[in-house]
Amino acid sequence: MQKGKVSVNTENIFPIIKKFLYTDNEIFLRELISNATDASNKLRVLSQRGEAAGDISELKITVTLNEDKKTLTISDNGIGMTAEEIDKYINQIAFSGAEEFVEKFKDTKADANIIGHFGLGFYSSFMVADTVEIDSLSHAEGAEPAKWTCEGSTDFKITKGKRKTRGTDIILHINEESKDFLGKWKIQELLNKYCKFLPIPIEFDGKVINEIAPLWKKNPADLKDEDYTDFYTQLYPMSEPPLFWIHLNVDYPFNLTGVLYFPKIKKEIEPNRNKIQLYSNQVYVTDNVEDIVPEYLMLLHGVIDSPDIPLNVSRSSLQSDGAVKKITSHISKKVADKLADLHKADFEDYKSKWESISIFVKYGMLSDDKFYDRAKGICLLQNTEKEYYSIDEYIAKIEPNQTDKDGNKIGLYTNDADKQHSYVDAAINKGYDVLLLDELIDNHFISNLEQKNDKFQLKRVDADTAGKLIDKDEKSESVLSEDEVTKLKAAFEGVVNKDKYTIVSEVMSPEEAFITITRSEWERRMSEMGGMGGMQMFGQMPEKYSVAVNTNHALANKVLKAEGEAQTELLTKSIDLAKLSQNLLTGKELTEFVKRQMATL
Ligand code: ADP
Repeated sequence: MQKGKVSVNTENIFPIIKKFLYTDNEIFLRELISNATDASNKLRVLSQRGEAAGDISELKITVTLNEDKKTLTISDNGIGMTAEEIDKYINQIAFSGAEEFVEKFKDTKADANIIGHFGLGFYSSFMVADTVEIDSLSHAEGAEPAKWTCEGSTDFKITKGKRKTRGTDIILHINEESKDFLGKWKIQELLNKYCKFLPIPIEFDGKVINEIAPLWKKNPADLKDEDYTDFYTQLYPMSEPPLFWIHLNVDYPFNLTGVLYFPKIKKEIEPNRNKIQLYSNQVYVTDNVEDIVPEYLMLLHGVIDSPDIPLNVSRSSLQSDGAVKKITSHISKKVADKLADLHKADFEDYKSKWESISIFVKYGMLSDDKFYDRAKGICLLQNTEKEYYSIDEYIAKIEPNQTDKDGNKIGLYTNDADKQHSYVDAAINKGYDVLLLDELIDNHFISNLEQKNDKFQLKRVDADTAGKLIDKDEKSESVLSEDEVTKLKAAFEGVVNKDKYTIVSEVMSPEEAFITITRSEWERRMSEMGGMGGMQMFGQMPEKYSVAVNTNHALANKVLKAEGEAQTELLTKSIDLAKLSQNLLTGKELTEFVKRQMATL
């Protein structure tokens, strides 16, 4: 029997493991099964090279619970370890990783996820066990079984083991606080979470729980659409089928496999984030891929698997990691390529999917200049006639009729075609085109479009009267004299709240609305920014509207001719009706308006 002390300079690794890693202690199972998987894979490689004898056709990992003895055992029939190897790998090498780990995390709370990446995976078992035993028989010819026992201190003992067949048993004597891990359902759940796609069969409770060749590891050429949709259903059982997907398959200069799905996104529903699972060689790592996948692609679903993503660094330094940067840009390029393919292959189909895709594309264009350039050609703008244009096509389309006196091309849009119907109607009657930009992200996207496209501006249809939305410096003939116009303005000023409404006279065609209430594009954008928590200062500005009175409208004369109460009634009624048609009459004002009208019946 050999007795010794685990060689570590640091006082004692065990209290540290327990203290720092109490939250995610369940990862011990993943670490032990990963080790068992590695041991199996190593044996397979040796055997293929003719360096190991014995049968490798039934490599398998077995997880066993013994509630009476309060043990959980992970057994493999992999490469095994001799007593010398246990001493070397478990007692010595692992502890050099421990030193580094303790050094890095002595003052902070570590994420248990990283423990395995310090060569400390095995020791995570002490998060849940008081005593851990290793019983192993090496594959080497004539090897003797060896047993290592450690009771959670730096003292260990190696004795002769009992194993008769090649492989390793890791026996955990689960401690009192962790007795949850003696429950069948708990283990079932953990195996399902971390080990579902591991490459070696894992047996628990008489059943194999994993799929050893998951879809993303297969050759795309061998797969049918159905295979992808089936896999999607397996990952997200109750979801609607995905729109399309990208199979990632790179082995140089970094290793990355995976399948990313574009889900169907509905406008009303907040899209689901955290749906991408990160694996490392088929071992589940996390579903929080925030710093690995560009923000705008977080809406995608699926799996990415890369052993090249460093996991022993803090989350925040991930983004600056070279490999992660390459992976990120590869993914974003693949996404852009896929979209371009779809756009080219079947434009009708692409259009039909645009509602779901547009959020990725716009978000991507906003957050990544490279993506902007890649996606510009396939980003669609839709007008109120339900016609689709690319950005360049659209600007070219409106240029002849929607260029103002300073040479700015003015795009008009509505974010609610129903509520802004009267304005949309007025703009269309002027011969203008109106875009539908009604997604939450469009607020930002609008500014982005203006920045990226020279002399292109966007105005919401209710930012001005139709005649002034695009200032072409055209003068129309006024029917009223200057004096009459002044009188008319003064009359209207007498019936509105002047802090909120400014009366302006405007010479329009007699067919256009008598009263148009508008809010300038600039003012509205500023106040919306305030509302979104951006610029508080502007957010507190009172809402200001402009009330344009069409002096060429027949009612203008009627108002001027009326007197006293009859005139006041004409004035308030025309303002109320304008507000009503422009969706500005709400709340108390609306109730009172309706009451007044009822009284006249
Ligand atoms: P890592 O797996 O990161 O190297 P671990 O602490 O988990 O660190 O394991 C240390 C070493 O012990 C492994 O590299 C391996 O050589 C050996 N080992 C652990 N578990 C097994 C096992 N089930 N079979 C064979 N060797 C093992």
